[in-house]
Amino acid sequence: MTVFLSPGEAPGASSVQRCDACAHTLPALDPAPACPQCGGLLAIVHHAPRHADGSACDAAAVRALVAPQGVTGARGHASGVWRFAPLVMPDAGTAITSHPEGNTPLLLRDAVSAYAGCDGLLLKHEGYNPTGSFKDRGMTVGATQAVRTGARAVACASTGNTSASLAAYAAQAGIPGLVFVPAGKVALGKMAQTLAYGATTLLVHGDFDACLRLVQEASRELGIYLLNSINPWRVEGQKTIVFELLQQLDWTPPDFLVLPAGNLGNTAAFGKALREAHALGLIARLPRLVSVQAAGAAPFAAAFRDGFAERLRVQAETVATAIRIGDPASWDRAVRAIRETDGIVTSVTDDEIIDAKMTIDAAGVGCEAASAASVAGVRQLVQRGIIRPEHRVVAVLTGHVLKDPGMLVELHQGSGERGGHARANRPVEIDASVSSVARVLAERAALVARAEGA
Ligand SMILES: [Zn+2]
Repeated sequence: MTVFLSPGEAPGASSVQRCDACAHTLPALDPAPACPQCGGLLAIVHHAPRHADGSACDAAAVRALVAPQGVTGARGHASGVWRFAPLVMPDAGTAITSHPEGNTPLLLRDAVSAYAGCDGLLLKHEGYNPTGSFKDRGMTVGATQAVRTGARAVACASTGNTSASLAAYAAQAGIPGLVFVPAGKVALGKMAQTLAYGATTLLVHGDFDACLRLVQEASRELGIYLLNSINPWRVEGQKTIVFELLQQLDWTPPDFLVLPAGNLGNTAAFGKALREAHALGLIARLPRLVSVQAAGAAPFAAAFRDGFAERLRVQAETVATAIRIGDPASWDRAVRAIRETDGIVTSVTDDEIIDAKMTIDAAGVGCEAASAASVAGVRQLVQRGIIRPEHRVVAVLTGHVLKDPGMLVELHQGSGERGGHARANRPVEIDASVSSVARVLAERAALVARAEGA
């Protein structure tokens, strides 16, 4: 399978959409949500970057093309997605709809490294994006495509981070945003960002599958552009998590790249990014991808243990709602990504996820529960002897700590199912006196001394 278009292919176009299953090819601006021939998933295939005279760029030229300093000035994009436009959407031009996004940090925290047992563990924190999750990377590209195709509206079926991101980018693009959710089954807290950013929320009489069907039919018949997880342009945006972290590491790949895995969209996007970076010579070797699932939602991990002999589905249950998915959409692409990178798929329990999250939170970094699966996964692979302490490892945190305030209150203030956690940081009620403050400080110092002595 080719990584880029060959020179004579698709003359006059920078990119095409191609069906994974039957290789049917559509022009870049066709808004079809899936292959019109067979219903397969569409993927974007680009021409490799070329110089103005049509000659191929070598690795140094591509690196210069996407360098941060090449972007902020002349083209005016301070975005960590759009500086990679030649590898994401080369013809976006003035359609670009950006907040901006990306430019997320690689954090090093001794407490988290020590917890995972991996010196110098780096955290790529996608919670620093404008709506607080990695979804903004794909949504800026998806919204830009909606502008390019003249869409009347954009839509998705989701109650989580995708809706929040869609709402923010629809507002930025000046296009109506529609979110389809099952009536009576939605926690309004999760919808708060979506409502605030002004998307229209449709409470559909039916279950989630009915929402999915309806959003697909509406997109076909009403000219609404579908921005669900298999949208091929969203995948292009998500690739920039990898491009950006490789660039931050001066194009020296880590030994392991570890990420939470639910719907497998990121596993697939990371695989595509690494394949392209390697084909262009941007990196000399591939890091091993490690996809970490929650034990209660781990069909991909189970299939991995069996050499991916069959596609599995499960009834998903985990506290990590962002990866609570029993039938992942991007399965085949993720299998390819794991195989091509000599990758690993594993699972961690909810207790391990919470424990890792409390470590990340208490380091002052913070993340959504699902994000902590990556650090829990590193810790497990160190204990299994697969990751050694001296390996270079990047763990991706996908969302911001404030994405699930209800869980934080439960963990720390001791109400609900997870109340009374051993590491709860309870608020302390005091009289309005300095002596009370002094007493609390002394107690805390004694606690710290005991912990250090232990
Ligand atoms: Zn097809």
